[in-house]
Amino acid sequence: SRDSHETDSSCRKDDAHLVHGLSETIVGVLGGGQLGRMLCQAASKMAIKVMVLDPSENCPASAVAYDHMVGSFDDSDTVQEFAKRCGVLTVEIEHVDASTLEKLEQQGVDCEPRASTIRIIQDKYLQKVHFSRHDIPLPEFMEIDDLEGAKKAGVQFSYPLMIKSKRLAYDGRGNAVAKSEEELSSAIDALGGFGRGLYVEKWAPFVKELAVIVARGRDSSILCYPVVETIHKENVCHIVKAPADVPWRVRKLANDVAHKAMSSLEGAGVFAVELFLTMDGQILLNEVAPRPHNSGHHTIESCYTSQYEQHLRAVVGLPLGNTSMKTPAAIMYNLLGEDDGEPGFKMANQTIARALEIPGATVHWYDKPDMRKQRKMGHITLVGTSVGVLEARLKSMLKEEGYENP
Ligand code: ATP
Ligand code: MG
Ligand code: MG
Repeated sequence: SRDSHETDSSCRKDDAHLVHGLSETIVGVLGGGQLGRMLCQAASKMAIKVMVLDPSENCPASAVAYDHMVGSFDDSDTVQEFAKRCGVLTVEIEHVDASTLEKLEQQGVDCEPRASTIRIIQDKYLQKVHFSRHDIPLPEFMEIDDLEGAKKAGVQFSYPLMIKSKRLAYDGRGNAVAKSEEELSSAIDALGGFGRGLYVEKWAPFVKELAVIVARGRDSSILCYPVVETIHKENVCHIVKAPADVPWRVRKLANDVAHKAMSSLEGAGVFAVELFLTMDGQILLNEVAPRPHNSGHHTIESCYTSQYEQHLRAVVGLPLGNTSMKTPAAIMYNLLGEDDGEPGFKMANQTIARALEIPGATVHWYDKPDMRKQRKMGHITLVGTSVGVLEARLKSMLKEEGYENP
């Protein structure tokens, strides 16, 4: 009878147990930042239970999560304790304890994407080595251990030279540019010296930066979202335009590179592939994120299936959703802290007030307890009939000179 099944906690696939709703799997997310918050928001619509693990009591995801365990996603015991409460483990940040995920996988815990994927991606140098072995086009790169090595790299790759931390990089924190050999040691100092592990990349003379969100289901099916253009300011994502205004051939090439990069990694979920488009029409891979990504925020308002819903579908084993845009165009504008503390909040409020007057604009505020300069505090997505129309609306929202409100 049904009753006997309900008391039997180890339901077998072939018994009469009926799933109530979309999925009864509890999704455990390592990290509770804005990406975790938006995952929880998508989950709530489908009544999928998301638990987050984050050290901060009032992290962005906390208020909207089904449950929040306060603790470090980089601490082995904490992650193991957290895993016991979840049916599947996933991440909203790659800087988690990969060794513990590997150990948990050996014990049969379901990690999506796989621990091996997180391990490769969280070390940007290892990631570059991995992709070059898989014949993915990349800017040339080289490990550096001392100033002599950096100078040699400068001779080989010339200047400006991009110096990067191997680990714990985000929002450009971990990148430093040396414009000449004289600037090498100050750039290296700015990254905290050689202790944390550094490598260099040849400067990519890109004409545009592009990104592709790729989803992989548990059945290994792969779907790509439309190619977008990302515009960075001081190494931080600033604006995303969807779709990217590039020829069909470039879109195809970007998709092919993203698809190939994805095929070399294991596990389900959405991934972001950041790309450079060079003057001569080549596509080079910058980096991959094993999770939803800033370049996919626009999908919440502009696509049939948002990247957040898609990630949940992928990790719990539901069919992937349609990745097409349901609006002709979208622009995403990041609300980056313009100042620390109260002055920063005041400036953000002014932009938000103007955004609320704009047709097709949606304001997302992450509710981070502290305002800091250059910190991602929220974003605004504009949808409409063309990227051109949206650019004009964005200008009016930002009160840029020379723009007359129509
Ligand atoms: P994210 O927040 O995307 O994780 P990150 O800290 O990992 O950022 P990167 O993606 O490596 O940093 O670099 C940030 C930005 O710096 C890029 O989007 C690009 O604008 C610029 N950049 C990175 N590498 C190069 C390069 N080799 N040549 C020129 N510009 C580069
Ligand atoms: Mg990165
Ligand atoms: Mg990046």
